[in-house]
Amino acid sequence: MTLLEIFDPKAPPRPIGIDLGTTNSLVASVGSDRPSVIEDCFGKTMVPSVVCYESDGTVIVGERAKELASQRPQDTIVSVKRFMGRGADDAETRRMGPYRFVAPQEGQANVVRFAVEGRPPVSPVEVSAEILRALKERAEDELRSIGGAVITVPAYFDDAQRQATKDAARLAGLEVLRLLNEPTAAALAYGLEHKKNGLFAVYDLGGGTFDVTVLLLDDGVFQVKSTGGDSQLGGDDMDRALAEVVLAKLAPTAEIAARPTFVRELLDVCRSIKHGLTSAEVVEAAFDVDNKTAQVQVTRAEFESAIRPLLDRTGVACRRALRDAGIGAEELDGVILVGGSTRVPAVRHYVSHILGQEPLADIDPDQVVALGAAIQADLLAGHGNTEEVLLLDVLPLSLGIEVGGGVVDKILPRNTTIPCGARATYTTQEDNQTGFEIHVVQGEREMSKDNRSLAHFTLKGIPPMPAGLARLEVEFRVDADGLLSVSAKEATTGIEQTIAVKPSYGLDDEAVEQMLLDAFDHGEGDLLTRRLAEARVDAHRLILATEKALASDADLLEGTERQRIDDALAHLKAMTSRNEPALVTAAIDGVDGATKDFAGRRMNRAIAKALEGQTIDRVEQTVEHAKGIEAAHGSPLPPERA
Ligand code: ADP
Ligand code: MG
Repeated sequence: MTLLEIFDPKAPPRPIGIDLGTTNSLVASVGSDRPSVIEDCFGKTMVPSVVCYESDGTVIVGERAKELASQRPQDTIVSVKRFMGRGADDAETRRMGPYRFVAPQEGQANVVRFAVEGRPPVSPVEVSAEILRALKERAEDELRSIGGAVITVPAYFDDAQRQATKDAARLAGLEVLRLLNEPTAAALAYGLEHKKNGLFAVYDLGGGTFDVTVLLLDDGVFQVKSTGGDSQLGGDDMDRALAEVVLAKLAPTAEIAARPTFVRELLDVCRSIKHGLTSAEVVEAAFDVDNKTAQVQVTRAEFESAIRPLLDRTGVACRRALRDAGIGAEELDGVILVGGSTRVPAVRHYVSHILGQEPLADIDPDQVVALGAAIQADLLAGHGNTEEVLLLDVLPLSLGIEVGGGVVDKILPRNTTIPCGARATYTTQEDNQTGFEIHVVQGEREMSKDNRSLAHFTLKGIPPMPAGLARLEVEFRVDADGLLSVSAKEATTGIEQTIAVKPSYGLDDEAVEQMLLDAFDHGEGDLLTRRLAEARVDAHRLILATEKALASDADLLEGTERQRIDDALAHLKAMTSRNEPALVTAAIDGVDGATKDFAGRRMNRAIAKALEGQTIDRVEQTVEHAKGIEAAHGSPLPPERA
């Protein structure tokens, strides 16, 4: 029988939303006004995020690849999302999975690669692209012609991880309309943006990861107030906890219990028991133990007590996320459940207990993220009501540059709504400096070395000028996907350089979380280090400027003035080696005081010189210059914000 397909050849391309999950991925689109998840020909909505490489070069994605994982563990990549944006030298990465990692070759980007059958080593971006390609094909089968895609990423994904996701989409031939935070997508699926304002918690318990996010909806714009979770906690752990219970009942011999085939079957059956217990109070299952069939009964109560420690771990993360957001559970206007594991009734009860209210759960927790992405895709393609919000995301971590003394100047603070941009102006510290070294960093800590280094570049070719005269304008732009480009320009000469910041490796979710926590923990110590570094930079500049002035205008010194200045300078030099910013600042004031009269005389001389038969223009320039001399004596020019 031939299948007759009927479709409208003039139908416009339809945008799609993709939930690229660690365990499962989905694709959705907005049909005649309602979003829905696209099924395969067997009616399945989820594509397991598993890719298997065969020796003849074929690539298998999804359900079939998942079946092959146990036979071909090294050629079957599971949970590739955990590797996105990671460096090849990432110790954490190397501990994951049974894979054969390959070091990058000369000239290759510093990314993790897996050696697999039938082709050169593949990167996580290429593996993810296979999953996206499978989703794209599924969507094309259903919709005929697809437009761009909105792809979701965890709220804590950093620049490298977002960039890797975008690269994967491009490789799969998808036009990325936008990357969207997963919790924000879930909130959109529930239509929460219509409320305009409110605080929401998104509790996402998937197969192998747990995330909790506090979202602030402010005038229709969602901001991530805090994120937390556990990247090694999910439904798989429930399967293992249940396996312990079942194992105790079966009591197999130690030899059988150690067989890999037995363990695998045990875990598979436990997963079905777990799913069964979501609706039933008791589930019975049969096991093959040494060619004999054994029957086992598990009650929901037994399962619930086995997973209790796992639930408690999610509770700790929830409380921490609330604390980081600076709110109490009673301030939440809504709680959303995301992820297949939130189907477990005990999880729902636990969440309502810990977050103080009945969670929203009427949308399928597997689908809610994909549905939200489809809604956003539809809006971006201009199909929705254009009055509606388009700006839905914020920066997950602050972006800044390193300034004198290794201190970070945050140019775009975390939680700034994107797309966004900001500019800051700096000046030279040394005379005749012809280049600026620009170091772009991401993170919350005060000192550059404690944050993540995103890029280094140098602005060269600046003509020699006295310190403080060059004006370096640094501009940061973050596009709607959260990706950064930096440009630097020397304003007096117009010399300019722009780079797209594309880091070669990424941070894992725990590292990002850790960085946020560290920033809280080290807040005070950091501030002290920062003040000290800044005071030392100020001291260094003042010492140089004073010594220069003493050399050039020694004839203006009166009486014991030279001695007083020398003493003050010696004291300042001694104080810079102490770890006490207040001492350095006091010594700076000492030098300022000792040089005050001398500076005044130098300024008078500069002005008098200028007045000798000069035009008014020149005089103004010279007065500016004289002010510069004064500035060099007083506190040095701080970076200004434009
Ligand atoms: P991810 O976001 O990591 O891709 P999912 O949200 O798809 O993961 O969640 C997958 C997990 O949900 C698996 O551990 C699966 O066993 C679990 N799960 C799915 N359906 C049920 C159910 N009915 N009862 C209990 N757990 C379920
Ligand atoms: Mg998920």
